[in-house]
Order: sequence, then structure tokens, then C-alpha cells
Amino acid sequence: MNIDVTMDSNAEPETSATDVEVSGPRPHSTLWYEDGNIVLAADVYLYRVHKSILSKHSTVLKDMFQLCSEGEGEPKDSAESASDAEQYEGVPIVRMVNDSDDDVYYFLATLYEHNFFRTHMYTKLSFLKSLAYMCTKYDAHKVRDDLVDHLSQIYPNTLSAYDDIMASKKFKSTRVDRDFHLLAIAKQIDARIVLPTVFYACATQPLSVIMQSSSIIEQGDYDTIISGREKITKHSYKVATLLLLPEKKCQRRNTECEILRTSSLLNYVDFKTDEPPPFPLQAPSDGALPEARADLCKACVKNYLNSLKSSRKSFWDRLPSFFDLEDWNELRQPESKT
Ligand SMILES: [Zn+2]
Repeated sequence: MNIDVTMDSNAEPETSATDVEVSGPRPHSTLWYEDGNIVLAADVYLYRVHKSILSKHSTVLKDMFQLCSEGEGEPKDSAESASDAEQYEGVPIVRMVNDSDDDVYYFLATLYEHNFFRTHMYTKLSFLKSLAYMCTKYDAHKVRDDLVDHLSQIYPNTLSAYDDIMASKKFKSTRVDRDFHLLAIAKQIDARIVLPTVFYACATQPLSVIMQSSSIIEQGDYDTIISGREKITKHSYKVATLLLLPEKKCQRRNTECEILRTSSLLNYVDFKTDEPPPFPLQAPSDGALPEARADLCKACVKNYLNSLKSSRKSFWDRLPSFFDLEDWNELRQPESKT
């Protein structure tokens, strides 16, 4: 792995001529601990924190600190010479190359400030993106697990949890491309358990939104969304047709009810727009029968609604397959470290 940070550990305490210039980054107002033993430098701020805390959360930083402390006893003419060393008030500085101030701040605040990342609350996208980037780059498992937990609440893996979250406004956003950004994050941190639901959320957007959002995600994921959407649409037609076939237990001997069922089916496929009929999980609770329902016999209505409910459940069970993913049980398995 390429680590885009440089650390200068060979500095002589408090006597170096290479202290950070006054015009450079300045100490951050909150993430600056007097007993901190490492200073992380981003473009605007310096963050004085603790190697022990960072090492606990990031294997990459831990390895780097270890390498640097081992190197302290080596001759000064080895690769990283003392002339390159930088420090701030005698504390070694790590330059956070390619990390923005937001990236560094959000990452450190998550580690240091209690409840800074509330996984059960709506959270702004820039924060989630920074955390996904930082926990991947620095191999920060606990931060990554918190992110997966957060995404799992927006994109649940059970139907009842999905219905609950859809009924609440908890994670609702006015931003039409948010699902696509969150899919990109889920892929980046390898949050497999959320993929079926986040893919479904993307695939059921209007086609125009999907096309406009194509640059946010990988080409392969875009293809998966398009093909999944087509499979789901076909599935919807098939289910609607099967459910509206004549009902064997009809109390009217298949006459009036049959006509009503047929007209409901014709209405279902008679699009007024370019968009397909409601996707399975968003379909109204009385399915394709909203107008005919009052005129059908009781047996027809009851059996239709029961079949609709069970077809919705079986659709959920099969959801991962529409996006060529492993089944739910496989996805729920704890990840094995490779
Ligand atoms: Zn009937």
C-alpha cells in the first residue's frame, strides 16, 4: 500500500531550525492537546494529538509510528535525514499529503469527540465521504464499522426495518443523487450487507436521475443498476399479471370480477409517462386494484391482497439476485479478513 504521508522523526527536540513557519498551517482550536505527542498537518490547520489514540484506530498510522521510532536510532545519513525533519514546539509533524482539512478534522473529531458521529442520525454527505476515504486509506476498522452501521440504518436488510425507515422521515433528503453517493461510499468501504437495498434505491429512481448520476459511481455499478432495474420491471409485470388472472374462489363465477380484474391489468400497463409502474416495494397496499377494489367480490379482494403481500415478501427475499449479489444469508455473514 502506498502511504501518502511523510513523517519526520529524527528531529532534535526543541532545537530544530525547521519549525513550521508562522505563515503555514496554524493550531486547530479544539483538536490541540497540550500533552499530544504528534502533530498532523493539513493545509490550514495543525492537529496536536496522540500516537497511542491514532495507533489504536489505524493500523497504517500505527505501523508508520513504529517504523519511525525504530528509525530514530539509525545513522542520520539514512533515507530520511534530519535536515528534512519538521516539528512544532518540539513535537514531530506528520504531513497529511492528499488529505483535505475536512478529511483530517472529521476523522480526528470522530476519534476524539464523544458522539461526534451519531450513526443513527441523518449525517451530511461531505462528512461521510471524508470518513470513508480516511478509514480506507488508514485502515481504521472501527470507524469503518460505524459507517457500515450508519448505512445499514438507511438501507436495512430486513423488510420490516425497510418499511419502518420508509415510513419515517429520518434519513429523507432533498438531494436526488444522495443514494448514488452512498452507493459509492458503500462500495469504497466494502459494506456488502447494504448493497441490495442501496442498489434498489438507485435503480428505482427515474431514468433521468440515474443517467445524471452516472459519474458518481463506477461504470460496473451503473451497469448493475440499469440491468437490475430492467429485471425488476419485468418481475413487476409478471407478478401483476399472475395476481390479476381469474380467481378460482371468486363468488361471482368469474364474470363481473373477471372483467374488473382484466381492466385493472390493462390500466396497470397503460402508462401515462415513460416511467414503469410502481416498483414492488413502493407499490400501493392494494396493488393494481385501487379503483376496482370496491366492486370486486370479497373473495377476490382478500385473495388478491394476500397474494400481493406474499409476493412482496418473496421479492424482498430475492432482492440481492436482481443485482447479481449473494443471498441475504451470505451477505449477513461476518466478513473474513483476507
Ligand atoms: Zn370475485
